Parts: sequence; C-alpha cells; structure tokens
Amino acid sequence: MKTAIYPGTFDPITMGHLDLLKRGLQIFDKMIVAVAINPKKSPLFSLQERLDLIKASIRDYDIHRITVDALSGLVVDYASELGSVAILRGLRAVSDFEFELQMALMNRRLNNKIETVFMMPSEEYTFLTSTIVKEVAYFGGSVRALVPPIVEEALRMKFNAPQGL
Ligand code: ADP
Repeated sequence: MKTAIYPGTFDPITMGHLDLLKRGLQIFDKMIVAVAINPKKSPLFSLQERLDLIKASIRDYDIHRITVDALSGLVVDYASELGSVAILRGLRAVSDFEFELQMALMNRRLNNKIETVFMMPSEEYTFLTSTIVKEVAYFGGSVRALVPPIVEEALRMKFNAPQGL
C-alpha cells in the first residue's frame, strides 16, 4: 500500500488543494493531509480551524483513504514515521518552481527514500492561492467556487467578527 503526505498550511483549504488531493488519490492508496502549524506565517485560521475545515470539506470523498493531521516537525521525518513513500506538492505557475525545487532537494538530502511528487491542478485553479482568497474575502468579494461552501462561510464569519480579525 502506497501512502503519500500532502503537507501545507491550508489557511484555508481551497478548491486547488482539493483538486490536488483528488489527483493524489488516483495514484496513491492513501493520502495524509498534514497541516503545518507554521506560526511563522501567522495563519488567519487556527490549527484546529484549519483541520476542521479540511475534514468538513472532504466529507463526500473516500475518507477511509484520507487522514487529516497536524504537522510540527520535518515533513520527511513525519513521512517516514508513517511509512509514506512520497510527498505530494502542487505546481501552479513557474513562480512555484524555484522554492519547490529547493525544498524537494533538501528533503531528498534529509531522506533519500522519500520522493517528492509534483502535480498540476486543473487550469481554473492555476492562479488560486489561499492568500488571494483571503484578500478577496477581506474586501467583501465573492470567493464562491474557489473554496468549499463551508470555507466561504468561515471566511465571512472571520472578517465580520467584531474585532475585525
Ligand atoms: P505551503 O505553505 O506549504 O505552501 P499551502 O497551503 O499554500 O502551503 O500549499 C500546500 C500545497 O498545495 C503546496 O504544494 C501548494 O503548491 C499546493 N497548492 C496550493 N494551492 C494550489 C492550487 N491552486 N493548485 C495546486 N496546488 C496548490
């Protein structure tokens, strides 16, 4: 059985992330969505919120083949602990490439048994990032069809909160 880790910040999960997860499920038996705690990025959504939004977004999927978990240390250590053979990453535009190459080579250096696999999303999600979704939602624009409905609602609540978070 082949398992892959799909690591990321998922702040919040978008249709682009889900597109990639589905593609991953086509070639791996099991996918582990690993949500990086990533305090450096000061996420809008707490770790628990990000985990909950992912779980709620994949309810209709083959959930027996998906695990959603938090990730705090090195991805390669986590991957080998769980017996994963690969790390799945998305490549949207050329701009992703340099950083992803750096990271893939560093991860290989740390553990050469784990391969990084890159996949491209469907064209309509090529320019979709969590950052752009947050920006549009912050200014009251519609992010429908770019994020699952539950995320759309969570963004609305976040930005309508009295403290203006
Ligand atoms: P990170 O902080 O690790 O980049 P993200 O949540 O932004 O976390 O992304 C996690 C992974 O999902 C990355 O490999 C990223 O390239 C991929 N990804 C994010 N958005 C998309 C998208 N629209 N299409 C394809 N892959 C995506």
